[in-house]
Amino acid sequence: MSGATLGAGAEARDGLPAAYEMVIGLEVHVELSTRTKMFCSCPADFGGEPNTHVCPVCLALPGALPVPNRRAVEFAIRAARALHCEIAAETKFDRKNYHYPDLPKGYQISQYDQPLARNGWLEIETEEGRRRIRIRRLHMEEDAGKSLHGEGDGEATLLDFNRAGVPLVEIVSEPDLRSPEEARAYLEMLRATVFYTGVSDVKMEEGSLRCDANVSIRPRGSSELGVLVEVKNMNSFRAVQRALAYEAERQARALARGERLERETRHWDEARGVTLPGRSKEEVNDYRYFPEPDLVPLRIDPAWVAEIEASLPELPEARLGRYQEAGLAYKEAWTLVAQRELGDFLDATVAAGAPLRQAANWLLGEVSARLNESGRPLAELRLTPAGLAGLVALVEAGTVTPTLAKQVFARMLETGEEPAVIVEREGLVQIRDEAALEAVAERVIEANPKVVADILSGKEKAVAALVGQVMRETRGKANAAKVNEVLRRRLAELRQAEPRG
Ligand code: ADP
Ligand code: MG
Ligand code: ZN
Repeated sequence: MSGATLGAGAEARDGLPAAYEMVIGLEVHVELSTRTKMFCSCPADFGGEPNTHVCPVCLALPGALPVPNRRAVEFAIRAARALHCEIAAETKFDRKNYHYPDLPKGYQISQYDQPLARNGWLEIETEEGRRRIRIRRLHMEEDAGKSLHGEGDGEATLLDFNRAGVPLVEIVSEPDLRSPEEARAYLEMLRATVFYTGVSDVKMEEGSLRCDANVSIRPRGSSELGVLVEVKNMNSFRAVQRALAYEAERQARALARGERLERETRHWDEARGVTLPGRSKEEVNDYRYFPEPDLVPLRIDPAWVAEIEASLPELPEARLGRYQEAGLAYKEAWTLVAQRELGDFLDATVAAGAPLRQAANWLLGEVSARLNESGRPLAELRLTPAGLAGLVALVEAGTVTPTLAKQVFARMLETGEEPAVIVEREGLVQIRDEAALEAVAERVIEANPKVVADILSGKEKAVAALVGQVMRETRGKANAAKVNEVLRRRLAELRQAEPRG
């Protein structure tokens, strides 16, 4: 062993050597939020008392027969079209055979050679600009149950079949991603896109979105694919990113030691920050796929697909483009797209008459700050799109200063009143009247002889102190530019009147 950094488990910090390039393809499972399961009428809800959402079909009792859930097929088509996939005219189900305690049938009903959808793509933002990541296929399958290890007396593994048979789609990308950051961007875009279609709540923490990552490295510039390692068990997007970075570096270190890489499945250990070999290194998975004899192939009516497609909302990709065209930077635009309720609110505020840029500023600024502080959803704030549009209009018209507008905003959230009502009642209208401002300026000048002397002896910066005083006297209602103007005019007069020393 030549050094600690090469030891198994040491997380390299220096990144992948520049001579190598990463190649990544992701397999993402999404649980569909249908009311019932894929092949029976048990509820498909998350959670519930263990083994209460079960029946002979999803428990695999002898003689039980599956019946496909039309709604699940519709949802899968919806997701597939949002991801620009082509929908097959005919699709069938296959048995994927393997043994695991949480899989009571001994096989999973999945799709093998005739998936529901193929040839899609998503666009992501990368360091070199936008890039299209191809999606190889999207197919339907059923979820397995859940094994709960170490529950009960601490040693037993308990089984909960509530999840068994919940509809899933698996979305498989081509190996088009080149860095952990790109993988992250793809996942974010995928999650947002599926979320907008409404077919899943895509919550990684509840397992309704799960990701396995395939990663290999190759000499930079090579067009051949390296030996693929599949990494499982990541519980967050951040974990996917960390696991990929670790795994690529591990592969590079192994090559540097003269080892040969082999195709294997590894598990991400979040606590240690390493990937560990899975048990199935030798036993190559042979799923012995064959057509599911209890289900007939499905013929998909193109008119049905067209109908589903027509009901899709504006998707993240389009919304992002629209916001960027309206002048938002990518990051700003993406923040508003990824948090759909913010984007929806923005669009409604614009519909109520506000310019997009100004409305976006409020949502990215004050509104987001409030949401972060309170940890509550936007819907619970006492703010309406019309109210925000009204506030933007008051600022645009110069009725209130930007400083006062924040005060009005705070009041709006407290009382739920219209901004104009608050401005009127609390006398928050901006003071632009020069005579009024001159009177205040005069008082401030008289009350601050030392500051004035400083200014007259050349310390121009001290003017700011006087501006601040005027603002305080007017409780923030003075127009800042006008205050500056009035003060400077008066100071110039004083300077002229002053006897030269
Ligand atoms: P299958 O699981 O059907 O055999 P593959 O294993 O070829 O298909 O592909 C599964 C996933 O692995 C896909 O997302 C694909 O993009 C990705 N992938 C395939 N080869 C590589 C590779 N050499 N490096 C990284 N990812 C790969
Ligand atoms: Mg695979
Ligand atoms: Zn059931």
